[in-house]
Amino acid sequence: MSDPLDERDVAGDPLALVAGAAEPYLGGLAERPVHDPARDALLDELDGPLPAEGDGSVAAVERLLRVGTAAATHSSGPRCFHFVVGGSTPAAMAGDWTTSLLDQGAGLWVLSPFAARAETVALRWLKELFGLPAGFGGVLTPSATLAHVTGLACARYRWADGYGVDVTSRGLAGLPQMPVFSSGLVHVSTRKALQILGCGRDTLRTFARDDAGRVDLDAMDAALARVDGRAVIVANLGDVNTGDSDPIADLADLAERHGAWLHVDGAFGMFAALSPRTEHLARGVERADSVTADGHKWLNVPYESGFSFVRDRSLLSRSFGAWGAAYLPDEDDERINYNMLGPESSRRARALPIWATLRAYGRDGYREMVERHLDVARHLGELVEASPDLELLAPVQLCIVCFRYRPEGVSESRLNDLNARLGEALIADGRVFAGTSTYRGMTVFRPALVNWRTTKADVELLVDVLRELAPAVRG
Ligand SMILES: *Cc1c(COP(=O)(O)O)cnc(C)c1O
Repeated sequence: MSDPLDERDVAGDPLALVAGAAEPYLGGLAERPVHDPARDALLDELDGPLPAEGDGSVAAVERLLRVGTAAATHSSGPRCFHFVVGGSTPAAMAGDWTTSLLDQGAGLWVLSPFAARAETVALRWLKELFGLPAGFGGVLTPSATLAHVTGLACARYRWADGYGVDVTSRGLAGLPQMPVFSSGLVHVSTRKALQILGCGRDTLRTFARDDAGRVDLDAMDAALARVDGRAVIVANLGDVNTGDSDPIADLADLAERHGAWLHVDGAFGMFAALSPRTEHLARGVERADSVTADGHKWLNVPYESGFSFVRDRSLLSRSFGAWGAAYLPDEDDERINYNMLGPESSRRARALPIWATLRAYGRDGYREMVERHLDVARHLGELVEASPDLELLAPVQLCIVCFRYRPEGVSESRLNDLNARLGEALIADGRVFAGTSTYRGMTVFRPALVNWRTTKADVELLVDVLRELAPAVRG
C-alpha cells in the first residue's frame, strides 16, 4: 500500500476507526487517571524509520489510536488542573471533526464563503457573550498569544502612525521604543508577542505596588504623562496564579485621559463577564482598543482556538493586509478575507467548533457552566481553609485557587522545596494533574477549574490525594 489514490473508495474507513474509539475513550475519561505513569514505554511505537512502503491508512490509524488513547495526557477529562487547560464540549469536538472533514481554506472568501460566514457569526456571538460592542472588528487566531500579536500589531500601527510612519511598510527603524505598560499580573505571552513584533519583550514596564503585582495607577499615570500618552497599556483580566485582575475601568480611564492604547488580556478571564458574581471584574473591557481571549480554555473548544477583537476594525486590515492587496474592505461587505485580518494566510476553519458549541449550549448553557466552576473553586477554597496543613494564599475570585501545603513543624525555608516535591509526586501519581507555580516567592499550587466536566467531587479528590501523598514526601 503506497499511493493514497488507491484508498479513494474507502476514505471513510480510518474515520470510522476514530469514531469507534471515541465512545470508549470519552466514556472512560471521568474515571481514568489524567495520565498513565507507564506511558513512556508506549511512545517507542511511534518511532522507527520512515517506511518506504506504507502500512495503509487503517493500520496506521489503528496504531496511532492504540498509542494515543493510552499514552496521551487525558487533559480533556475532569481533573487536569495544571496551567489553564480547557476540555472540549461534545458539540465543540464534533465541530472540530467537521472542520477536518470539510478541510476548508478559511483565509479567502472565494475559497470558502461557508467558513468566512461561520467566522463572522462566531465572532459576533462571542462579542455578545462577552459584552463587547458589536462594532468591534475581530479575527480567530490559533491562541491567545497570536491574539496578542494581532491586537498589539494594531496598537503598534497606530502608535507609529502618530510619528507619521507606516510601520507595515517601513518597519520600526528610526522610531523610538514603543512604551508598553502593565501591572505585575502580566502574562509571559504578552512579552512573547512584543518579542515577535520586534518591540522587544523586555521593553514592557510593570507598575506594581505590592509583591502580588497589583497595579500602581499613580506611577503608571506619571509614566504616561512623560511619554505624552504615546503608549500601550496592557490590562490583565484573570491572572494565572490567583485569578486576580487589574482594575480594568481605572486603566481605561488612564488610557482615555492620555490617549494611550488599551489592550486587555482576558485569555480565560473574559468569561467573568458571564456571571453576575464576577462581571464587575470585566467592567471596562468594552472600552478597550484590543481584547484577547482564548477558545481552548474556558470556552472548552479543542486546541487551537483564540480570538482577537479590535475596536477600530480598519486597523486589522491595515496591519495585516498584504502588499498590493486591496486592504480596506467595505464595512458591510460579507465577503471577508480573514487572512487579511490576522497573522495567518492559509488557515483552517477555526470557527466551526466555536459555532457548534455556542449553537448547542447558548448563552445560558455557558453561564451555567461558569457558575458551576465558580462554585467548585469556592468549594476548593473552603476545603483548603478547613485543612490545618493547607494554606490559602489569595482570595478565590474566579476559577483559580492558590494555596500551598504547610504542615505544622516545617520551617518557612523548607516549604518551597516541600511543595515542589509534592507537586512532582502529584503529577507522577496521575489521578489529579496539578503542578506548582511561583507566587510572591512561594512555591504554590494554583489549580485552574475550567473544564466543563469538572465538579466538586474532582477537587475533593485533589485535596485527598495531596494529603495522602504528603507524608511520604515530607519523609
Ligand atoms: C493561557 C494564557 C495566555 C496564552 O494563551 P495561549 O492560548 O496559550 O497562547 C495568555 N494570557 C493568559 C492570562 C493566559 O491564561
